[in-house]
Amino acid sequence: MRLLILSDTHANLTALDAVLVASEGQWNRVACLGDVVGYGPDPNEVIDRIRGLNAATIRGNHDKTGSGLESAEAFNPMARDAAMWTRDQLRPENREYLEKLPAGPLIADGVTLVHGAMLDEDEYIFAAPQALDSLIEATTPLTFFGHTHIQGGFILRESTNQVEAVAVRPVADQKIFTVTIEPAATYLLNPGSVGQPRDGDPRAGFAIVDLDAKTVEFWRVAYEVRAVQNRMIDAGLPGPLVTRLGLGR
Ligand code: ZN
Repeated sequence: MRLLILSDTHANLTALDAVLVASEGQWNRVACLGDVVGYGPDPNEVIDRIRGLNAATIRGNHDKTGSGLESAEAFNPMARDAAMWTRDQLRPENREYLEKLPAGPLIADGVTLVHGAMLDEDEYIFAAPQALDSLIEATTPLTFFGHTHIQGGFILRESTNQVEAVAVRPVADQKIFTVTIEPAATYLLNPGSVGQPRDGDPRAGFAIVDLDAKTVEFWRVAYEVRAVQNRMIDAGLPGPLVTRLGLGR
């Protein structure tokens, strides 16, 4: 059983389609960690695609604000503008789809899915000390999280009782790094962001878990960023959001 793990697609259809082409034939089922929409120019198209994949999907903060389930007041002005634009674009059935997405944690195919953290879907986990609570609360060896848009994650080994970072080593190849799942350890792993990476690499990030081989593959795939930027400009989305997509920041 191989699971394709997607997160933070952020209404970027070109990136999502590049991921689906690159991973074709490589997985049996799909899980999605939320922020399906927000920032990007293709909210309806990306929702349609995710729904078509029959993905086990939880909500992210941008799904709550984009659907109107939550106010965008707490967002910075650019994210708020993009959330309001998204709200205007959504077809009624897609708005309803976002509204009804469950909050994490959700267990699907033996792995746990959260958007931010185990106890708070909106919390950011950037560093090992912040990962400890989620690792202790986990009831499955593998938990996947998103929200930070940074590929990588954390491991808690029973032998040391210490949280350590799981580094992913970027190389030019598509399949960037394979982590072998150790026994007697708990993992909190971020597949990276499909639609708006923020770790300095603008290529779309995702992961594939092989539950039989006990591996997690962290992938990066190049896509036509310029095409997405042009659609963002045409839609009147904020300029800095257009720029950051090309930088992976
Ligand atoms: Zn996000």
